[in-house]
Amino acid sequence: MNEFELIEKYFSFKPEVTPALDTGVVLGVGDDACVLNISQGQQLVVSVDTLIADVHFPADAPADRVATRALSVCLSDLAAMGAKAKWFTLALTLPGTNAVWLEVFSRSLAQTAARYRCHLVGGDTTRGPLSITLQVMGEVRAEEAFTRSRAEPGDSVYVTGCLGDAAAALAVLQDKLRVAETDRQYLLSRYYFPEVRFAEAGKIRGIAKTAIDISDGLIADLGHICKQSQVGAIVDVTCLPYSENLQNCSTEKQREDWALTGGDDYELCFTVSAEKRKLIDEMTLSGSLQAMAIGKITQGDKVQCYRQDQLLENSRGGYMHFCNAE
Ligand code: ADP
Ligand code: MG
Repeated sequence: MNEFELIEKYFSFKPEVTPALDTGVVLGVGDDACVLNISQGQQLVVSVDTLIADVHFPADAPADRVATRALSVCLSDLAAMGAKAKWFTLALTLPGTNAVWLEVFSRSLAQTAARYRCHLVGGDTTRGPLSITLQVMGEVRAEEAFTRSRAEPGDSVYVTGCLGDAAAALAVLQDKLRVAETDRQYLLSRYYFPEVRFAEAGKIRGIAKTAIDISDGLIADLGHICKQSQVGAIVDVTCLPYSENLQNCSTEKQREDWALTGGDDYELCFTVSAEKRKLIDEMTLSGSLQAMAIGKITQGDKVQCYRQDQLLENSRGGYMHFCNAE
């Protein structure tokens, strides 16, 4: 199979690209470049991620997991900007043409893309050590993108969903945590197939001031908001949200550490001004938004954790220093 046959066979997701779906795709895979229509009044939001075999995932990982996780993690950056997913490109470096791997990879990629209504519009295919570069593109109404730089003292800090599941899954995979089968299934699916928080981002658009997706643990990622907004934050660890499954199989201290410093949850952390807090709390009370108030933005430049009123000591090399984590 030559390069062109390979692209035609595996990466020409043509059924998705029909004018009726209003995809904005004027020209997709197959020409020198794609041509895209940007909707009126919208701004283009772009992000790119590269995943290298045996650096970011085991080279022998199942291709469906690799594809789904790669696209989901990449799309999470669009959700964290408040953008709607529209298009993506795929630069794929392959050691050879393994038809089974390509079949499974491309099918899972197509399924994940369809689920989030994101269309493959081009890419590049080369030979070499396995690596996957995904560039995602989305749209956001002009001036409405969430940034990391607008948090102010007095704002409330929220997170969506539950924290710590992915770090617990990693402990399970490394044989450091023994769990019941149902909890195991749940934790691993949270790790391998993170749900991109587009729905939640849509609900907080126009209300939240800043947002970030939690890929490196709450302290580090809230730290990025603090650094770029030139503020500090306090987190009440008793408010951290945990799944029932995680509570079944961990001590409070363990899950607290996973939530604060473990990565890969891909929930959103966002800040809301005191005046707009009511709007978020109404949605969480009615059940239309799963989010938890976990702290406040303060003056200063540190992320500090409290248990009720007691400041937590830097038990693991210092939570307080994480706000400077790059
Ligand atoms: P060029 O030589 O002009 O760069 P390529 O042979 O790299 O063209 O690609 C031909 C077409 O196939 C282009 O439209 C490109 O966007 C698309 N393409 C190449 N590789 C991929 C891929 N892995 N996934 C999706 N589209 C791809
Ligand atoms: Mg090319």
